[in-house]
Amino acid sequence: MKNKVSIAVVGGGISGLVAAYRLSQEGFKVNLFEPKELGGLLSTFPIGANRLEKFYHHIFPHNKNTLSLLSELGLKEKVQFTNTKIGLFTGRKTIPFSTIINFFNFPPLDFKQKIRLGINTIRLKHQKWQKLIKYPITKFLPEYLGNHAYKIIWQPLVEKKFGSYTDTVMMPWLWARITQRSKKLGYLNGSFQCLIDRLAEKLSENGVRIRGSAVDDMAIKDQCIILKAGGKNHIFTHVLFATPLPVFKKIASKVLSPDFVKQQLSIRYIKAQCLILALKHPLTQYYWININDPKSKFIALVEHTNFRSVDDYNGQHLVYLSQYCPPGNGPYPKNKEEILNTAIPLLKKINKNFSPNWIKSSHLFSSQFTQHVADKQYYTHLPQIETPLKNVYNISIAHIYPDDRGIEKAIELAEQAASLIIRS
Ligand SMILES: Cc1cc2nc3c(=O)[nH]c(=O)nc-3n(C[C@H](O)[C@H](O)[C@H](O)COP(=O)(O)OP(=O)(O)OC[C@H]3O[C@@H](n4cnc5c(N)ncnc54)[C@H](O)[C@@H]3O)c2cc1C
Repeated sequence: MKNKVSIAVVGGGISGLVAAYRLSQEGFKVNLFEPKELGGLLSTFPIGANRLEKFYHHIFPHNKNTLSLLSELGLKEKVQFTNTKIGLFTGRKTIPFSTIINFFNFPPLDFKQKIRLGINTIRLKHQKWQKLIKYPITKFLPEYLGNHAYKIIWQPLVEKKFGSYTDTVMMPWLWARITQRSKKLGYLNGSFQCLIDRLAEKLSENGVRIRGSAVDDMAIKDQCIILKAGGKNHIFTHVLFATPLPVFKKIASKVLSPDFVKQQLSIRYIKAQCLILALKHPLTQYYWININDPKSKFIALVEHTNFRSVDDYNGQHLVYLSQYCPPGNGPYPKNKEEILNTAIPLLKKINKNFSPNWIKSSHLFSSQFTQHVADKQYYTHLPQIETPLKNVYNISIAHIYPDDRGIEKAIELAEQAASLIIRS
């Protein structure tokens, strides 16, 4: 029976890799299509004698699926959890924002505002997210936490991330971000590339064929699914799309009903770009700084070498500056030089000793599909793993709700999709 089944996994990000791994463990014949390097949003690039994620990545101690997969792959001993320091940059200075003491010393809010913010944030964490579905962030939070606290803490961040979509984002998105954070963060010695490489090794041992081409088109004929990739047709009995949803939408639109495409696949995504600087000197004492200054388009500064040792990178201090590029926030700089020009004044405000000659190298990475917008109707039209097409399945970050997208949920979805295929 198994040799009559031929499965394609489209997309070699963490979810596609895990799905292909689980299917190949069951003895199925699997082809994986990935036009770029494996790893997707989790992919890395070489720096110093090591590798670094193009987009900052860490895991949380409660990420059970991730820790269990790492254990299974013999990588558990590479995981290290570290307490991290968080700051909030107001436009003039960076204020520590990691501990209860920091919170009570936080100058932009008075005592009453802090008490209201503190108590209601704790109440929010204990709410059932289902009760929050009807409420847009921009209406609920100012009333719940206080207008001033909302303006200082949340408004700049949600507006930088969602731009003109901000008013449509509902509270479960924010609830998930509040409840799932922890101060202790985990990373893999040698970067998350170790996980990608180990999965790739396992795929090769299990006979998975990795094809370096993008899937451009799909047709269905006589119960077979025909994928067009690299100018050739490939025939399968089952296909799992582990690509961003708009990619699946584009490829499958011809064979799906227009109503389904409109209702379930028309989800808005936001692009992100990360500028990475390798510096001669440390910039701050923080791992993560929220850039709450509304004048800057950057949303966060992540100093990776305040999380991992600088010795891992030949003494270079590594800093990410990230920005999302939603509509409504004006034009975003497009190339590295333009982004650097907007970063330098910010870096000087964050550390007055900073000088551009600290920069040993700079790297820019961007991705079109990094954050989906969970609006009011989202919950009722949540994308499903099974599609109306027999034996065609789909997983993506947009399938994750209300939890925050991430490695943990990508693994969970991949495992669910693989078991559906195995049972079909
Ligand atoms: C700035 C940033 C920071 C993040 N930080 C964290 C973090 O700290 N912790 C965490 O857990 N998560 C984090 N994430 C989220 C995490 O990276 C993602 O949730 C996860 O990597 C998604 O994996 P995926 O396989 O679902 O999708 P992707 O990684 O997007 O993979 C999809 C793959 O499909 C391929 N593809 C596209 N089109 C085609 C086609 N036509 N044919 C074949 N293949 C195709 C792409 O090349 C890509 O490799 C972060 C994300 C961003 C953007």
